[in-house]
Amino acid sequence: MNQLFDLTALELARAIARGDVAQSDVIQGSADCIAVSDKLNCFTAISVSDPIAATPDSSLSGVPMAVKDNLCLAGTATTCASRMLRDFIPPYTAAAVEKLLCAGAVCMGKTNLDEFAIGSTSETSFFGPVKNPWNLEYSAGGSSGGSAAAVAAGLVWYALGSDTGGSIRHPAACCGVTGMKPTYGTVSRYGLVSYASSFDQIGPIARDAADCAAVLDIIRGHDRRDSTSLPGPYPSLSAQLTGDLRSVRIGIPDVYFDEAVDEPTRCAILSCADALRRRGATVELCRASGLEHAVHAYYVLACAQASSNLARYDGVRYGCRAEAAHDVQDLFVRSRSLGFGREVQRRILLGTYLLSDENYDTYYKKAVAVRHQVEGAFRALWHSYDLLLTPVFPGPPPKLGQKTNDPVALYQEDRYVACANLAGLPALSMPCGMRQEGLPIGVQLLGPRMSDGAVLNAAFAFQQETDFHRRHPPMFGLGGDAE
Ligand code: GLN
Repeated sequence: MNQLFDLTALELARAIARGDVAQSDVIQGSADCIAVSDKLNCFTAISVSDPIAATPDSSLSGVPMAVKDNLCLAGTATTCASRMLRDFIPPYTAAAVEKLLCAGAVCMGKTNLDEFAIGSTSETSFFGPVKNPWNLEYSAGGSSGGSAAAVAAGLVWYALGSDTGGSIRHPAACCGVTGMKPTYGTVSRYGLVSYASSFDQIGPIARDAADCAAVLDIIRGHDRRDSTSLPGPYPSLSAQLTGDLRSVRIGIPDVYFDEAVDEPTRCAILSCADALRRRGATVELCRASGLEHAVHAYYVLACAQASSNLARYDGVRYGCRAEAAHDVQDLFVRSRSLGFGREVQRRILLGTYLLSDENYDTYYKKAVAVRHQVEGAFRALWHSYDLLLTPVFPGPPPKLGQKTNDPVALYQEDRYVACANLAGLPALSMPCGMRQEGLPIGVQLLGPRMSDGAVLNAAFAFQQETDFHRRHPPMFGLGGDAE
């Protein structure tokens, strides 16, 4: 059984199709691992989906996966790791999840996250923090920490996450796995509980770039139920994985290679650049202006959108309802105070303040202008570069509890990743080194809108040159028996 865990999702699907391994044994192996891994706290619910007859040519048929618990799965609680939605059972399934199930995926359960995907350490969950499988004292990153930790620990072969300002890429980097936020509008948001609708995108967290491409090939596509869904065309991403980077120009923007980036991260990124050069790419440091305020604009816009999206949780139609309210107003206040955790309340307060009459022009309008400036700054870079290479975050992953009392410091760390959400760009994070403490280091690749294939191909080329994506924490595939 153990060798199975070393296979990628694509390799496992082929082994199942050939009859080398019984699908029931694979599912049982995954379930056994999950059952003994509760100390990671990756799952909010474990329930194996009923197998749906697979289409014969599905590349991921029979492979166990997991779904972040802000994506609806009909009949299974979708909690968003919030007390507010603890008992919410959606009557429908998210478009991306449905597509995977129809392609023969086996969903093993729902993964833990920061409450409503708001955060970057997976510590704000109502169910408690997710632990990093490489070292249980560290955060798994966030907000899709449960998805990243489950893949890194070998409990499932891939997982879906959502990325509003880095929430796929950040935990993927913390846990040493590959995660991709696709171009905004390419994966339907139908059935994803909204955080900041103009940034939210669903994407895969997997063992390598080829698996990410295979998942995206299944979940991408136009959906009339999402008004921001792009019409396509959607050429196969997997078919673009040639590993050839000749004539690909890659820039490392100076703003993201600043003094905050610590030595191990800097060295790992420079050796990643060398590996990409060996595949034919030109890689150079470049000047970039107009990106400096991206993260500030991100937080203004994200809080504003969160405050309006979360207004629907009022204790009346669904969600947690407080007892003993005097009147309707009191019911709202009590239910929302009880149902939402501290960080979510902070974002709602900030967002409401920013959208108020007296502050709208000063903050919200200015942030929209900065967003346009960021889009323009990227457009200028695409004249000279096909892709950009940056850190995902500048140092080690946070220790659990280390940053819970310093939200602004945490917000600042999103500056390497949130820029891609402002401009709707495809962006991927992959492991590119190890720190002395035994924790993985991640690097980010991003490209122009709809260049998802080129981003994945650069990651694929890197992974053909190196084996960081094949390294696993000691507990990998053992389900936590090994410490
Ligand atoms: N850390 C960011 C935030 O808290 C991003 C979260 C996300 O991408 N869902 O807003």
